[in-house]
Amino acid sequence: MRVRVLGRSGGYPRPGEACSGYLVEAAGRRLLVDLGHGVLSRLLLHVDPYRLDVVVLSHLHPDHVADVPALRVALRWGRKPPSWPGRLPVLAPVAAPEYFAHVVGEQALDELDFYALSESEPVDLDGVQLRFRRTRHPVETYAVRLEAHGSVLVYTADTSPSEGVAELSRGADVLLAEATLSEAYADRAEAAGHMTGSQAGKLAREAGVRRLLLTHFFPTSDPQEPVAAAQAAFDGPVEAVREGEVYEV
Ligand SMILES: [Zn+2]
Ligand SMILES: [Zn+2]
Repeated sequence: MRVRVLGRSGGYPRPGEACSGYLVEAAGRRLLVDLGHGVLSRLLLHVDPYRLDVVVLSHLHPDHVADVPALRVALRWGRKPPSWPGRLPVLAPVAAPEYFAHVVGEQALDELDFYALSESEPVDLDGVQLRFRRTRHPVETYAVRLEAHGSVLVYTADTSPSEGVAELSRGADVLLAEATLSEAYADRAEAAGHMTGSQAGKLAREAGVRRLLLTHFFPTSDPQEPVAAAQAAFDGPVEAVREGEVYEV
């Protein structure tokens, strides 16, 4: 399994970059996890959108879904290969169809087949198993655990420190964790629904993961600050993801 980072900004994109978006390739499948501002442009550098098997949307904040309407237009008017089934499955919070219909009209639902995410309903995608856990964030948000051929990747999505997300992350090879907040704002994590670098490090330690990748950096922050803070809390390797980079799981 490998994950390519298409965007790593939280809230709004840092100059020249994109918000949350991760292309996961595993067991011959291509999964796009989140699709924030600027992600479609990065995605198209690497994969034809008709070759995606599924899109997973962790939650309906714009920095995770802003490019969904653009993806729909690309699917609608692009050069469709004859083998394309005509609709792309999208796993998302239950309100997603109504949300996108409100933004772009009912035609939003023509190319996208929405399935509601649920903690109690794992998804098996021909060799890739997905499980979900609600996070601690102001709107309905899901962390995602992906397993294929014995490798495990967990993406925290947006969350403040959460026992449920730690449980979902247990024993993961790679934990892709948000580290939005500067250490100075640790006391605001709960209200903001985000983590600092040290909180992400503590999560990685409690979950016993092998490697910690930090993401969802606020555009005015220095990604190296949460890396240093996380390293103080977690013994394993820690790094800040870079846009366009591929990470083996
Ligand atoms: Zn976000
Ligand atoms: Zn959010």
